[in-house]
Amino acid sequence: MSIRFDNKVAVITGAAMGIGEATARTLAGLGASVALLDRNEEALVKTASALGGSARPYPCDVSKAAGVERAMTAIQGDFGGIDILVSNAGIQRYGTAAATPEQVWDEVLDTNVKGFFLVSKYALPHLLARGCGAIVAVGSVQSVAALGNAAAYVSSKHALLGLVRSLALDYARQNIRVNCVLPGAIDTPMLRWAAGLDPNPQRVLETCDRMHALGRMGRPEEVAHAIAFLASDWASFITGAALLVDGGMMVPAGGMGFQESGTGAGAKPE
Ligand code: NDP
Repeated sequence: MSIRFDNKVAVITGAAMGIGEATARTLAGLGASVALLDRNEEALVKTASALGGSARPYPCDVSKAAGVERAMTAIQGDFGGIDILVSNAGIQRYGTAAATPEQVWDEVLDTNVKGFFLVSKYALPHLLARGCGAIVAVGSVQSVAALGNAAAYVSSKHALLGLVRSLALDYARQNIRVNCVLPGAIDTPMLRWAAGLDPNPQRVLETCDRMHALGRMGRPEEVAHAIAFLASDWASFITGAALLVDGGMMVPAGGMGFQESGTGAGAKPE
């Protein structure tokens, strides 16, 4: 058995670039028809036409119910059903709780949590009509651990994992599996934007490399491959799971800095 998605329809959000784009390319390469959602219409249309084949763009803000419902109805009409939902659209904002304006909190939670809720809510009737299906959400290592100065983002990614588990439980008996991937630092436009907030972006990128036991950041397609696995029949007995795709970032107690610090923890293996 190999992973194939022939005759399957996959909806991918945040598909214009980064991890979403790589996921669309991966799933399409494995035979899926792909429906791409993103609020960045110009980039979305470019990505869909670069992918060619069955790929179709559906410009939409995942945090707004009416647009999401419209997009899912249109996809049902255009493709005849939905088998796979990849909820990937997300935004990163920085700030401690005291420094985060209410509007920024709302923006992050609306996109990263409510967006996942809405795309699930409006895709589920179509998945259920098929009799089986898979949802994969893109969380983060920050779904299970915190980085500093990111109160809204950390909260949103923790909440996302809660919703993954809730959906997994509620729909298991109807053959809908729901899982998430938890990426480490992945080289995408979002990460480049975040590095650009620092006066020395190159230093940030090098730090990102060193945060992982493998000594480098991840590539978008490496997350896409994990998503494809969870969406496939190879993961037929996996639901409610959170799969780290983090190059070993979460392995070392005390982090890589401690590991490399010259203490006993830094001793080189034989
Ligand atoms: P990118 O910013 O590179 O791409 C995300 C895409 O999603 C953009 O086109 C963005 O549009 C779109 N998007 C954002 N908000 C919405 C919305 N409300 N409705 C529709 N589309 C939207 O991000 P990445 O590929 O890096 O990240 C993808 C996911 O992976 C996110 O959930 C992120 O939190 C997660 N992740 C990323 C990591 C990384 O290191 N890159 C690490 C761990 C998790 P726009 O440009 O307008 O914002």
